[in-house]
Amino acid sequence: MLKAPDSDFLARLEARLGPGGLRPAEGAWLEEPRGRLHGQGAAVARPKDRDAVAAVVEACAAAGVGIVPYGGGTGLVGGQVQTEGPAPVILSLDRMQAIRLVDPLDNVAIVEAGAVLADVQAAAAEADRLFPLALASEGSCRIGGNLATNAGGTQVLRYGTARDLCLGVEAVMADGSLFHGLRRLRKDNTGYDLRHLLIGSEGTLGIITAAALKLFPAPKEQVTALLAVADPSGALDLLAGLRDRLGEAITGFELMHRQGPAFLAETGIAHVRPFGDWPDWLVLLQLDSGAESALQARSMAALEQAAEAGLISDAVVAQTGQQAADFWALRESIPAGNRRVGAIASHDISVPVSAVPAFIDAAGRAVARIDPTIRINCFGHLGDGNLHYNAFPATGRSREDYDACKADVTRAVHDTVDRFGGSFSAEHGVGRLKVGELERYGDPAKLAAMRAVKAALDPKGILNPGAVLRAE
Ligand code: FAD
Repeated sequence: MLKAPDSDFLARLEARLGPGGLRPAEGAWLEEPRGRLHGQGAAVARPKDRDAVAAVVEACAAAGVGIVPYGGGTGLVGGQVQTEGPAPVILSLDRMQAIRLVDPLDNVAIVEAGAVLADVQAAAAEADRLFPLALASEGSCRIGGNLATNAGGTQVLRYGTARDLCLGVEAVMADGSLFHGLRRLRKDNTGYDLRHLLIGSEGTLGIITAAALKLFPAPKEQVTALLAVADPSGALDLLAGLRDRLGEAITGFELMHRQGPAFLAETGIAHVRPFGDWPDWLVLLQLDSGAESALQARSMAALEQAAEAGLISDAVVAQTGQQAADFWALRESIPAGNRRVGAIASHDISVPVSAVPAFIDAAGRAVARIDPTIRINCFGHLGDGNLHYNAFPATGRSREDYDACKADVTRAVHDTVDRFGGSFSAEHGVGRLKVGELERYGDPAKLAAMRAVKAALDPKGILNPGAVLRAE
């Protein structure tokens, strides 16, 4: 049984961590971005190095105190906020931000877990390299959190998720031992891959303290365009055609329904208006390439061909860096617009890419059967089959008006996802908000293996109790 730490325990921890190493748990430490959960904590431990992380974990293991690892606090499923059970120690990596090395020859960066994603991107750019993980939360989220959640974002289509971008991790295990996995090998088949077990484990199997990350050549030419398409099926045909012609150059292919910009207008969020009237569906296309590829000319020819084939009804290609940034800001403001309108239910789902159009139709019908007044804002990473499929109240009504049917909406959407062989959590993880969904939709053999792994690696259940798997 876990217990909350007493004042003697906290005094000893404070002495070990030194000035600024222990803070009261309050404010942002206890909140998550959508305000859905309010967490609790006995204190926030802020170790300065991996040995201090190990000391915190060892002390908590000995005393049976829970630990909630905390990165940038941007997680959207409540993994970083514990709401039930004895108050834990929140273990923040915010004082471990060093970018130890950027090696352009090995194409590797070695960074501490508390490094902010945008700082890692900037350090790579200074060395004429690209670290391609890109999320709207990149100014706040930290590498440890990105790996713990196996974050996705807008460039997965070309570069993969956080898992694909990580060569090695260093981590403190539940007994306080250190896993020295900070290797930068491209090949290493020496038994079970603990790195990949820790990535995506949401702080339930170990505390990531540092990582070796893959870098890529910095793009030399970029094209950013907003394209009007008829429907998701047309967007998919467009993607296939552009892939044939431009191949690897496609790094981003974001689908947006016109409801997204409409919410921005409704809630007073400034945004570009490149078209007279918003088309029903929009694609934000990002193309990047190396120096000698004549990307501009090739991409214009490909877009013209797509227009002739009737796949694009209108297109605006960014002429300046600022215009490109404005197009991305439109896409990245959509979650803020959604928050202001107030979702009845939000879903971060994936289905096979080819099934996206049929899924959107089927889910729309399923939600309308529950309440035809519900408005859907559907947008996301079409190239990854990943949609943020969110349900909103009708104009003039509040989300509370829909409290009675909220759970039914999520059930209808997730059942539809399941029918299409999809995932109820494409990139945000399970955290605390989706534990029930994992129990409902998870493969029984996988769940049994997950429980066995958890029991083996964290027998006292001190690491992020109640996240991913229900606390015993
Ligand atoms: P936190 O929120 O602090 O923690 C997340 C989880 O990781 C928790 O379970 C926590 O306990 C655990 N954890 C944190 N640090 C460690 C560590 N060092 N060791 C072990 N466990 C740890 N996500 C996407 O995938 N794609 C997107 O496009 C995307 N867009 C977003 C846009 C906005 C505006 C916001 C607010 C969020 C978005 N997210 C997105 C979600 C979020 O940013 C990611 O999940 C991110 O990876 C979380 O990182 P963090 O440092 O904030 O982690």
